[in-house]
Amino acid sequence: MANDPLYETIIGLEVHAQMLTRSKIFCGCSTTFGAEANTQICPVCAAFPGVLPVLNRELVQMAIKTGLAVHGTIRERSEFARKNYFYPDLPAGYQISQFELPIIERGELTLDLESGEKKRIGITRIHMEVDAGKSLHEGIQGASWIDLNRTGTPLLEIVSEPDLRSSREAGAYLKKLRSILRYLQVCDGNMEEGSFRCDANVSVRRRGDTRLGTRTELKNLNSIRNVMRAIDFEADRQIDLLESGGTIVQETRLWDANLNTSRSMRGKEEAHDYRYFPEPDLPPLVITRERIDAVARQLPELPDAKAIRFSRELGLSEYDAGVLTSSREMASFFEETVQQGAHPKTAANWITVELLGRLNREGLEIEQSAVTPRRLGRLIGLIQSGDISGKIAKQVFELMFETEADPERIVAERGLKQVSDTGAIEAAVDKVLAENPTQVQQYREGKTKVAGFLVGQVMKATRGKANPAAVNAILQAKLSG
Ligand code: ADP
Ligand code: MG
Ligand code: ZN
Repeated sequence: MANDPLYETIIGLEVHAQMLTRSKIFCGCSTTFGAEANTQICPVCAAFPGVLPVLNRELVQMAIKTGLAVHGTIRERSEFARKNYFYPDLPAGYQISQFELPIIERGELTLDLESGEKKRIGITRIHMEVDAGKSLHEGIQGASWIDLNRTGTPLLEIVSEPDLRSSREAGAYLKKLRSILRYLQVCDGNMEEGSFRCDANVSVRRRGDTRLGTRTELKNLNSIRNVMRAIDFEADRQIDLLESGGTIVQETRLWDANLNTSRSMRGKEEAHDYRYFPEPDLPPLVITRERIDAVARQLPELPDAKAIRFSRELGLSEYDAGVLTSSREMASFFEETVQQGAHPKTAANWITVELLGRLNREGLEIEQSAVTPRRLGRLIGLIQSGDISGKIAKQVFELMFETEADPERIVAERGLKQVSDTGAIEAAVDKVLAENPTQVQQYREGKTKVAGFLVGQVMKATRGKANPAAVNAILQAKLSG
């Protein structure tokens, strides 16, 4: 089992994140996804003989940003390397990557585990490299098609230390990393479209062992859910194999999400198989301290810092702060709601409970919400000013979702404004007291609990619009009078 009492699961993740640069890594071709096959290529990315690569400056900015965001060290001098292998969708016969001197080394990322604990995961390195094209096999008999549009799309490969101990931690790591890349606006993090891809390295060892076991590498994981399922499956497979006296072979395995199983794809290649050597067509990349400092000054507030600020300055619970900073969009929704004058804790409640509940039911993201932060903030304002009760606000909220109208308009048109006018409330109280002599009697005999029932009757008579505090006060006064 994945949480076997005798064995421990060890995981290291390699993430390939496509960078949102406008043009490719070494040429001016567009990187837009989904264009007609082979319409976004030129002699450079299609690897015609004699062409020379020119490094994309925007990519280097994005790599520095990412490095700073994970507290990595940015190398003053890094180097590109040629990784040689043949593949039909790799026209050059080699991939330009970084090997011994990557742009970023030694970073870390903090996981927010479901238990409320925090755990630090080391990042070994982050390097820049070029993406390959795509081979298409579907719908063609006995042949494959090659689409080179993706060739030359810039990637960051982010390699973690083998610090993860369960599929849950691996899932939390991917969510956190993706969220940081999205905050930085360097990657859209779309796993289905392949702009955020993950290979998982998995090994197991007997608890107490200090040496790492032989790992296998899992590929073809196109969602966080699949990464987690594949890791659990692989850990179980390795434990069963060891328990039955077998040995683990270092290999690359392909996950099959339909069959919920993995199969061996190829023996694991070693670095020397690729005949790496420094890329002769590119000079070493030199990054000055000034350039790093300039990027650092432009860094947005990142999720961890935001969460700390939300809990320390705005008084949110750590849990709410975590939820509200899980994406940049969520955090700005919350901040804009508060800007409308909503009390932060009330805004947090409405967003995490009512809004996210409703969005989840409809399968929508927060940026697709029909209720805008401005409208939600004003709805909360109406509660705070005593114009409507919390209960009526929930009705207005539902109506805002359906009609996309302003809360003030809904309240006015439907006559939902809270009655604070004491004359009207007094009349309703008198009526209820006259209609319920038994309860009035009971109250006067000391059974003060029946007051709750009488308040309920008054609220009912005013269709929920009476100000509950006023009802209480008037009722108490009349009952004890
Ligand atoms: P390669 O290109 O050969 O896959 P990398 O250095 O790019 O090598 O990535 C290796 C990944 O495997 C890292 O994420 C590392 O943490 C992980 N890893 C290394 N050894 C083990 C192990 N024994 N068990 C699990 N993961 C491991
Ligand atoms: Mg690998
Ligand atoms: Zn090109």
